[in-house]
Amino acid sequence: MHTVKGTCHCKAVEFEVDLIDGHQNIRRCNCSMCSRRGAIMAGVTLDRLRITRGEDKLSLYQWNTKIAKHWFCSVCGIYTHHQRRSVPTEYGYNLACIEGIDLAMIGEIGASNGAAQTLVAS
Ligand SMILES: [Zn+2]
Repeated sequence: MHTVKGTCHCKAVEFEVDLIDGHQNIRRCNCSMCSRRGAIMAGVTLDRLRITRGEDKLSLYQWNTKIAKHWFCSVCGIYTHHQRRSVPTEYGYNLACIEGIDLAMIGEIGASNGAAQTLVAS
């Protein structure tokens, strides 16, 4: 297992993700929120993502069923992570926030069909 660090744009918020076999479940989602956000996300169980700085700077956005929890930095507005509606035991996180990541090196990006799930977020 190894740990990678992520930050929002202004670095007010920092988080760590414990990876077992690299970034998993890399995807985009076509729900009404994620399609606007446009982020490429990866998934991790709740116990393997920690906010290490700026938890008080995070804002929470919820909509529709209010099950998914979408966090973003209240200073710079960047989405950092969310607790998934479809798998509440997992966070999705913004791969582009991970330090040193080269998004061009990511292979195939899966698609979550969130739009088909009665308009709820992934
Ligand atoms: Zn920020």
